[in-house]
Amino acid sequence: MAQLIRLNRLSKLDWYVRPGRSGSGRLAQLISQNRTPCDGVVLDPTLWSRQSELASIAQGAGIETILDPRSLELSSAGGLERPGISQLPWCTRPAHTAQALGDVDARRRLVGPIAEFAVQNSLSAVLSPTHFVETSDDPWLDIDDLLTVELRHELDRRGGGDILVHRPLYVHSKLFRQLGSIEKLSSRLRTTHFAQLWLAVHPFGTMSSGSIALKRYIEACRILGAVEVPLVAMRTGTVGLLLMAIGAVSAMECGITDGEGFDITHHTTPPRPPENGKPVIGSTPRIYIASLGVFMTTREADAFFGVRGMKPRHLCQTGCCPRGYVDIVKKRVDHFLLSRKAEIARLSAIPPRLRGKIYLDEFLRPASDRAVAASRAHVRIPKVRVRLDDWRQTVSAILEDQQAVAQPATTRVVEPNQRPAVGSLVPIRGDKE
Ligand SMILES: [Zn+2]
Repeated sequence: MAQLIRLNRLSKLDWYVRPGRSGSGRLAQLISQNRTPCDGVVLDPTLWSRQSELASIAQGAGIETILDPRSLELSSAGGLERPGISQLPWCTRPAHTAQALGDVDARRRLVGPIAEFAVQNSLSAVLSPTHFVETSDDPWLDIDDLLTVELRHELDRRGGGDILVHRPLYVHSKLFRQLGSIEKLSSRLRTTHFAQLWLAVHPFGTMSSGSIALKRYIEACRILGAVEVPLVAMRTGTVGLLLMAIGAVSAMECGITDGEGFDITHHTTPPRPPENGKPVIGSTPRIYIASLGVFMTTREADAFFGVRGMKPRHLCQTGCCPRGYVDIVKKRVDHFLLSRKAEIARLSAIPPRLRGKIYLDEFLRPASDRAVAASRAHVRIPKVRVRLDDWRQTVSAILEDQQAVAQPATTRVVEPNQRPAVGSLVPIRGDKE
């Protein structure tokens, strides 16, 4: 892990939000009130009737608008059944295969309409329509190289020369068990041109980031750093903050109180059958408890905050919920967006070489201690505590390795006044000194 010192050290950290069905309206409102929470929005063309207004408001505010063409769904029979997929102008049946997209006309029928949509709607970037790969010589990789190059060409041909192409790498975590496989991938990715590499690992996210998975993810980021483009952690949620703090990635992407992990089956299986005659269209946004880095349903939050002592320590810490519990429940989408904005702005303001240490000292350690104290308040908290402890140990080990590389073993490490006078990532009221 000592080589981690060479990880991404871009100073500005970016946050991309995938608003989905339920959050688009509130996100548009916040942007139009100049309370811009994010650097970019990832737009879903199957929700265009809800998201086109958000796209124009975001464009007006100088926020990146990034199209996700839903290529994972288009390449699986189950995904094709998902709402709105079959109506996309670039949808063809049967589901795409690497063999079928080996044909140049078939690829043009895919990337042509995607480019057309992006140009017509003046979007600022497009995720290249790449696919889920399980090995470093997966047949999809050759096709994805071609699709990325040809999408660029189709955009240029239509006057969309200023629209960026970002390349997603949707990958199975088993590939990360072998460093040689990641190195092979990394070498290949250097041969095609794209603006950013978006990394989605199945299964990885806040709920599936134990020590081993986390270390492998970080090591993969180090190797993929050789591609020399900004690396974006897709669907990582709260663990994305950790990845940015230690310099593994320079940006993260997640949903609004969801999208905390990447699971390929969410893209390739048919939608859930209707309940009581109505289609199942996603879950209600949850409540963000920033002090623990965790989300709760209304019922869970009712039980948790009903326990004495929980409200002073775990209610809103960013000032967006003046009426306390009433607001954190009622304005949960605003609360999450503004809290996450504050967390990322805080990390961004710290010099890159100090981010990991300050994240450890001012978020992870206190959060882990708070989770111990809050364990009795809800049955889920002990699991949160285990997760925070895993993260704390992993980050501590990385920082020790970095320090060992930076300082000869015989030299006493002294950092006089090196640490800036700062509060916690999100200052927690009610914490003991
Ligand atoms: Zn709030």
